[in-house]
Amino acid sequence: MMNHEISKKLFDKAKKLMPGGVNSPVRAFKSVGINPPFIKRGYGSHIEDVDGNTYIDYVLSWGPLILGHCNTRIVNALKNQLENGTSFGACTEIEVKLAEKIKSAVPSVEVIRMVNSGTEATMSAIRLARGYTGRDIIVKFEGCYHGHSDGLLIKAGSGALTFGTPDSKGVTNETAKNTIIAKYNDSDLIVEIFKKYGENIAAVIVEPVAGNMGTVPPKEGFLKTLREVTESYGSLLIFDEVMTGFRVSFSCAQGLYGINPDITTFGKIIGGGLPVGAYGGREDIMRLISPDGPVYQAGTLSGNPLAMVAGYETLNVLSEDPSIYDELDKKADRLCKGLKNSMEQNGIDVKINRVGTMMCMFFSDCDVYDFKTATKSNTDMFAKYFNAMLKRGIYLPPSQYETFFLSTAHTDEDIDKTIEASFEAAKE
Ligand code: PLP
Repeated sequence: MMNHEISKKLFDKAKKLMPGGVNSPVRAFKSVGINPPFIKRGYGSHIEDVDGNTYIDYVLSWGPLILGHCNTRIVNALKNQLENGTSFGACTEIEVKLAEKIKSAVPSVEVIRMVNSGTEATMSAIRLARGYTGRDIIVKFEGCYHGHSDGLLIKAGSGALTFGTPDSKGVTNETAKNTIIAKYNDSDLIVEIFKKYGENIAAVIVEPVAGNMGTVPPKEGFLKTLREVTESYGSLLIFDEVMTGFRVSFSCAQGLYGINPDITTFGKIIGGGLPVGAYGGREDIMRLISPDGPVYQAGTLSGNPLAMVAGYETLNVLSEDPSIYDELDKKADRLCKGLKNSMEQNGIDVKINRVGTMMCMFFSDCDVYDFKTATKSNTDMFAKYFNAMLKRGIYLPPSQYETFFLSTAHTDEDIDKTIEASFEAAKE
């Protein structure tokens, strides 16, 4: 039995000091009905909480840690930078190096701007798209998450082909009026939307592999339709690769599926576990950003040397070994097959979606290809499974609608242990 006494005391204190006791909602473990463990340290594929319990980590800080915790190369690069200063608010060579590295991996990115989070990246990309096109409307997909800026915190309105409604108190109806919500993987609907509103649409923003309603891959032809329809109406296509960028392949989701967006947003992996975001794309569009052009965007800590160093070193490691993504893919495949087997042998219906090392096990008997099918999952069953896995030392994302990840630090032994735990959890 795991003891969580110190975590509990800390959480009680934290709840008095912070909303929900946390600095980001999902950390509160609300949908799995228990108190969260407080994490003390991470090493390789593992994390350890303040009570001394250890877990194999499949959250990996929600995606950034593709090399696991405390990768030696990154730690050393960070130490070196630390001793030379943590922030200057001035130009540094490492910004140029990281920009070059990203550009060389992702040809659609001709010019790039670093920011501090994925939210900032998508918010700025949308301002840029509106500035470039002189249009107001944004199309986003139900179930896709692009951070918490007002215009993107919109849920589906009633019925297809209508504008969305605010998804959070504090977001105005006026803001929601400029966001149309489409259905992920529904190519016909997007064509209909463009027929009706195309002349006024500034951009379509999409997660090329959705990772925020669980993992939902794009159907064949979906991303191509988005590319064609935006092009023919003079709208921009924004790929939000905050999660998929350097996760699903070194050329990101756009390389994997062979579709070039106009603007791409990044975060997570390109900061190697430090706060980061970036947006980049076609040069004629990006040149509108200040100080080159009239679309304003700035940041005290943007291009922060620690984040740049950690991101640059991460991308170096990922690009040096040509087999790294294949190895990750094989490991993820074995893990998913084992998890599925553990459920099937115990008579539990699950659907597993996976693209590379982005994966999700839905407690459902139907295929999951959009928000509606994702929400058919049995979340009570997920919560039970989550708890049964956690007490066996397996740390999964504490919600059915999150993606889980693997890192290069996960060993075959980790995978075996996880599958074994899953068999026991299924029985329980
Ligand atoms: N876009 C996507 C696809 C994300 O998954 C996330 C966060 O998970 C964001 C944007 C927001 O990034 P951040 O949490 O760094 O603001």
